[in-house]
Amino acid sequence: MARKFFVGGNFKSNGTVASIKSIIDGLNNAKLNNSVEVVIAPPALYLLLAKEITGNGVDVAAQNIYNKGNGAYTGEISAQQLKDAQVHWVILGHSERRSIFGESDEFVASKTKAALDAGLSVILCIGESLEEREKGVTIDIVTRQLAAVAEQVQDWSKIVIAYEPVWAIGTGKVATTAQAQEVHAAIRSWLKEKVSAEVSDATRILYGGSVTDKNSKDLATQPDVDGFLVGGASLKPAFIDIINSA
Ligand code: PGA
Repeated sequence: MARKFFVGGNFKSNGTVASIKSIIDGLNNAKLNNSVEVVIAPPALYLLLAKEITGNGVDVAAQNIYNKGNGAYTGEISAQQLKDAQVHWVILGHSERRSIFGESDEFVASKTKAALDAGLSVILCIGESLEEREKGVTIDIVTRQLAAVAEQVQDWSKIVIAYEPVWAIGTGKVATTAQAQEVHAAIRSWLKEKVSAEVSDATRILYGGSVTDKNSKDLATQPDVDGFLVGGASLKPAFIDIINSA
């Protein structure tokens, strides 16, 4: 089945009211390939602003939630609050959350479950460190991260997987097309074996890690690369070329 190409922009903790408005203005005025689903993820503080001014078919995502719902969780945002604010997407399991904030596979999985239970769609990030790649355990790591989710989640229809090798994030060191395709294909066969053939067929698997307008076209040619999760370049006009590289 045809999987709709998907490009996410992860702004991380970057931007100001003025710069976010200007990025969104740029997207609103651009000619975007309408066969591509585009979702931008500004910092939580700017989500409502982004919701209000974003047009041109572009949707908005949060970068995180807590897994517990509303309550005494100072500093956190719940899936229900995103739903209430009509933010339909959330990025979960980003390697910066895993490494800087110590999020375990199980915690990421429980947040994925909480998001899906609230009716949100999830961009689920997985990926190996440089050390893990050099040890040859890349596939073990990404399938372990997926298996934790499969333990808590049955319905994968609202999950987009983002394969982001940690060594490629923000480093300018992009995976080769062959490296990306190899891991994406392994993820797809894992889905087929552990979840179902339908889910394996239908699930978008994005590549993330130093994607630019220079490398996106080549990566997009790979049969199992169904889009990108873009960090640094999503803050720049080049993001539009990346969207249109499908
Ligand atoms: P990058 O980040 O494009 O700046 O490497 C990607 C990501 O962290 O999602």
